[in-house]
Amino acid sequence: MLIDNYNKVRNIIDETCKRVGRDPNEVTLIAVSKTKPLSDIEELAKEGITEFGENYPQELAEKYNNISMPVHFHQIGHLQTNKVKYIIEKVNLIHSVDSMHLAQAIDKEAAKRGIIADVLTEVNYAGEESKFGVNPDDAESLIRDISSLHNIRVRGLMTIAPFVENAEENRAVFRGMKELLLDIKSKNIHNVFMDFLSMGMTNDYIVAVEEGATHVRVGTAIFGARDYSNK
Ligand SMILES: *Cc1c(COP(=O)(O)O)cnc(C)c1O
Repeated sequence: MLIDNYNKVRNIIDETCKRVGRDPNEVTLIAVSKTKPLSDIEELAKEGITEFGENYPQELAEKYNNISMPVHFHQIGHLQTNKVKYIIEKVNLIHSVDSMHLAQAIDKEAAKRGIIADVLTEVNYAGEESKFGVNPDDAESLIRDISSLHNIRVRGLMTIAPFVENAEENRAVFRGMKELLLDIKSKNIHNVFMDFLSMGMTNDYIVAVEEGATHVRVGTAIFGARDYSNK
């Protein structure tokens, strides 16, 4: 049963929080349901689970339109400007804003609908070629630029840490992300709220929680391995 997997992860998060003196309520577990059928989401939603993460805008929109229960979707994967319109009203949080061009597109679509879009700035902390996200040194200036837009609100930072054998290898990344969050928060930039830190996946979410994650994005440990053969 998926709920058993979910509860196992949730319990580990709660125990980790207690061990390091954090309040477990500070950590949102996002069940990453990309490539998985709607029935998997509904199975968890029936048990009261509300937070789900999707990577592909079309898949997110389709699931949103067909789900029979109210849940919250998070856009966690890379977002192209021309796809913003498909998901803007269907997501609670966009985790992957890494350019002013994308922020402007989100702002424009949000303004059309009279809403304010909550977003995170994605940081490519380790500077990996294969990953999206801004260089840590450029995060503040991007956030300052975004802060001038009226229908988009930066709530914090997100990172996808490198794939490593041992989660400990990512501790410095997570710690650096927390420092970056606090540093930008200390600048008190108008319209910027550095209260969310989205980091940690199946292989490294415990270390991420130890280092201050407020949102962990866990797929495989809840839904099992993904099949990309028809993607
Ligand atoms: C797929 C994905 C996840 C979940 O990864 P798992 O290793 O299956 O937990 C988390 N975040 C992002 C951005 C993803 O694309």
